[in-house]
Amino acid sequence: MALGNVEDIVPVSVIGLKAVLPRFGDAQLTLEDQAGSTLGLLFPLGEGIALTDVSGDDFHRCPNCDLPVESLASPYCSETCKAQAAFVRQLRGALATGSILSPEKQTAFGERLWWLLGGGLPMREARIPESAKRQVIKRSGGACEFCREPMTAVENFGSGCNRPLHLRAVCVDCSRTKAYGDLEFSQSAPVVAMLRDLSQRINTVVPMRPCDDPDHWDWRSFVAQRRSRRFELE
Ligand SMILES: [Zn+2]
Ligand SMILES: [Zn+2]
Ligand SMILES: [Zn+2]
Repeated sequence: MALGNVEDIVPVSVIGLKAVLPRFGDAQLTLEDQAGSTLGLLFPLGEGIALTDVSGDDFHRCPNCDLPVESLASPYCSETCKAQAAFVRQLRGALATGSILSPEKQTAFGERLWWLLGGGLPMREARIPESAKRQVIKRSGGACEFCREPMTAVENFGSGCNRPLHLRAVCVDCSRTKAYGDLEFSQSAPVVAMLRDLSQRINTVVPMRPCDDPDHWDWRSFVAQRRSRRFELE
């Protein structure tokens, strides 16, 4: 992690962050502020979040979720785990330096959190150019590209890129994007479970997993360890 002047560094806790965030569920806010407000879903220490033992240091497992992995191309079992770990690690870094107090950072991290939780990319989708939308609608013939029911929206698919290749026409049932502030979604059991897991990893003073550590995580050395310890198993 690159650090600026030592005087610039004012660590912020999750509780301190929550105190300055835009209010979650306020549809009057700009989409940027609404995205930033999703960070307010994180739990501070104490609210069912306790410190537990360090894990994720078995080189034959995904450092993010502990599933067995033998890949020598990536430490992680999936792109999702890679993205989750990057979110935790980079948010830990932004809290440690206080850079998370910038509204732009809050927007960027909040957008990523909502996407990780499964709510899609509402801010990105609000900016899909009309020309790209028209191309997708033409391609789909007005039907959902997953189930062929009549389409109701154009959404990002996979990456957050707004070119037609990465967009899909969707119907109400196949749509995965949730508006920022959607309470039913944000309070659903799987979302709350993921929030608890992420919150725990973000709150701990000592990183719970090696991939959570903005100062010392080195995925190449993790994979190198996996390679060199392969033979111990055989
Ligand atoms: Zn994993
Ligand atoms: Zn559909
Ligand atoms: Zn692209």
